[in-house]
Amino acid sequence: DHLHEDSDPDRAPSHDLRPDIPHSARLYDYYLGGKDNFPADRAAAAQVVELLPHVPAGARANRRFLGRAVRSAAELGIRQFLDIGTGIPAAGNTHEVAQAVDPRSRVVYVDNDPIVLAHARALLRGTQEGRTGYVDADVRDPEKILGSAESRELLDFSQPLALICVALLHFIPDHENPADVLARYTSELAPGSVVILSHATGDLMDAEKLAAAAAALQTVNSSGVSLTPRTHAEVLRLFEGLELLEPGVVPVHEWRPDGDLEDTVLPRSHANAYGGVALKL
Ligand code: SAH
Repeated sequence: DHLHEDSDPDRAPSHDLRPDIPHSARLYDYYLGGKDNFPADRAAAAQVVELLPHVPAGARANRRFLGRAVRSAAELGIRQFLDIGTGIPAAGNTHEVAQAVDPRSRVVYVDNDPIVLAHARALLRGTQEGRTGYVDADVRDPEKILGSAESRELLDFSQPLALICVALLHFIPDHENPADVLARYTSELAPGSVVILSHATGDLMDAEKLAAAAAALQTVNSSGVSLTPRTHAEVLRLFEGLELLEPGVVPVHEWRPDGDLEDTVLPRSHANAYGGVALKL
């Protein structure tokens, strides 16, 4: 058992979950049709969906982007994955996609939400040959994540690795500089590594409705599921210094679509996020 002692899910006190306050991981779980959410989460989600009815479809499109991007990385020969902002387990978890390509693939999951920690066991069911680890940490703490026993045991930074920040960096406000946060990780990556990123945007939707939904979320949630949508140019800037793979930064459902019907029919205006994958040269 490579779980850190104080991050054992069995020891996590339930009051840490704060069911009375909406949490981003549980809102996303609700949008995906999951069951790991509480009334406060559903009330907040309902307010968002009332203004922006296509948000759940956008969340599903983001989840499928994660799967296609992980598969693409695996097809490039990458066998190790650092997945920050893991989320509550859902269909197509990173280790399932990666280990379907090669059962020896290794994944380190990282999230800072106690609800995800409570589900860590489900994320730790790797194949016999491959392994998965879980680190309870904030993306803004690269020392903890990169220095964790799990990272040191499961990841070899002298070899190509996939860094995954899917639907994560919009939780980092401008004043905390998400590009700098990301650079702390990319600077550690070996050439041939890839960065998989998706990010909420308001570019494709009605700006007024977006602002109203953001305001509604703010009022139900004083502790702050605060989300900073970013423009195409701002998301492009996050990839600076890396070589974007085709087709670049595009609405998530347009990134190397695999024929999934929902992606095929999703109008551009219903995509809430940009996605892209880049190579470290
Ligand atoms: N990557 C998954 C889940 C996205 S939901 C997917 O795309 O399917 C966003 C996740 O990021 C949530 O689980 C939330 O708890 C986590 N998160 C938000 N802010 C974080 C931070 N500062 N550090 C680590 N994880 C964070």
